[in-house]
Amino acid sequence: MRLINLDKISNTRLKLALTYLSIIMVLFVSFSIIFYQASTANLQIKVIGGPEALVGTGTLSPPPDFTNQPSVTSTSPSDDQKMLQVPPLNQDEITKLNSKLEDTFAKLKVNLRNQLIILNVIALVAGAFISYYLALKTLQPIELAMDAQERFTADASHELRTPLAIMQAEIEVVLAKKELSLARAKAALESNYAEVGRLKSLSEGLLDLTKAPLTSKDFKELKLNKLVTEAINRVVKLAQIKDITIDDQLPKIIINAEGSSLTQALVILLDNAIKYSPEGSVIQISGSVENKTAYLNIEDQGIGIKPNDLPHIFERFYRADTARNQANNKGYGLGLSIAKQIVDQHSGKLSVVSSAKKGSTFTINLPVSDHHRGASKRNEQT
Ligand code: ADP
Repeated sequence: MRLINLDKISNTRLKLALTYLSIIMVLFVSFSIIFYQASTANLQIKVIGGPEALVGTGTLSPPPDFTNQPSVTSTSPSDDQKMLQVPPLNQDEITKLNSKLEDTFAKLKVNLRNQLIILNVIALVAGAFISYYLALKTLQPIELAMDAQERFTADASHELRTPLAIMQAEIEVVLAKKELSLARAKAALESNYAEVGRLKSLSEGLLDLTKAPLTSKDFKELKLNKLVTEAINRVVKLAQIKDITIDDQLPKIIINAEGSSLTQALVILLDNAIKYSPEGSVIQISGSVENKTAYLNIEDQGIGIKPNDLPHIFERFYRADTARNQANNKGYGLGLSIAKQIVDQHSGKLSVVSSAKKGSTFTINLPVSDHHRGASKRNEQT
């Protein structure tokens, strides 16, 4: 699979490089032909003789009086005319002069042609390197995207396989039994039910990650506090089960947001704070506005995140070992990547500060709305 993609990419890279090279060479060859023709257009001078002397085809004019002009000089009486002044010549001399001129012009043409050919060969070699480099650069983002997609598909299939394998094994065990007690059947169904739930949440997570990006039409002026209250309401039952207190101290902040997705990001952060906190602990929600940016902090007193896990926790499917080992925390490592994607779409930033065994603080930075800025200015004035 990977090999096929690599083959496809290197073929495409080669094709693109050849296209670039053809464009470069068409330009170079056309330029060379035009340059050659323009440069050799004037190399057709012929001495005609006679007292009117001497004329090149088209561009040379006879001198006014050459009998008293013993030397050959060239001047430019006008832009497109050149004048050649020579002493009087007999027919033989004129023929010799003409054949010499022809020879010289022929040599000049051959020289020019050779130089242009060499220049084109150099352009071909240099162009090949440049074209390959350009093709490499052009395809790089596509290769990265393909890599990411492949990794995503591989990770997703891997995660899907585990619950499916568990369900299959359970069913096989049940089917292999000649006699099945009601209790055994119920236990198998319960286990399968739990795995189906996991599969459902995994597929929902995958769908969330592939949702179409938000557009400016989706954004509205909203109170961040309202979204936080809504998110708390959604997780409050989970907090109650562990006797965890959620202390919401967020001041009033107005932002431009898509309400349901930002609430979803908040739910993910609160859900994690509950999942990774001990019973009876407190989750603190606070916030502030500085330099037109709103800061929302969700601070827990949970297991914290080890420094070597911290750089990875926003990656898809990444789970720290501490989380994996907790039997009741059967996440997929998708929550934070979904939350980060949502915050990014709000032109914000999701970050974390954590120390193992002490707790974590997740912070969302969001630009405040113009309305909030106006409101706070009015507050400052009064
Ligand atoms: P999940 O929680 O489903 O494993 P997430 O993407 O939400 O996936 O989180 C990724 C990892 O980050 C978790 O496995 C856990 O190790 C760590 N993590 C997230 N939030 C917290 C938190 N509040 N406290 C401690 N660890 C956390």
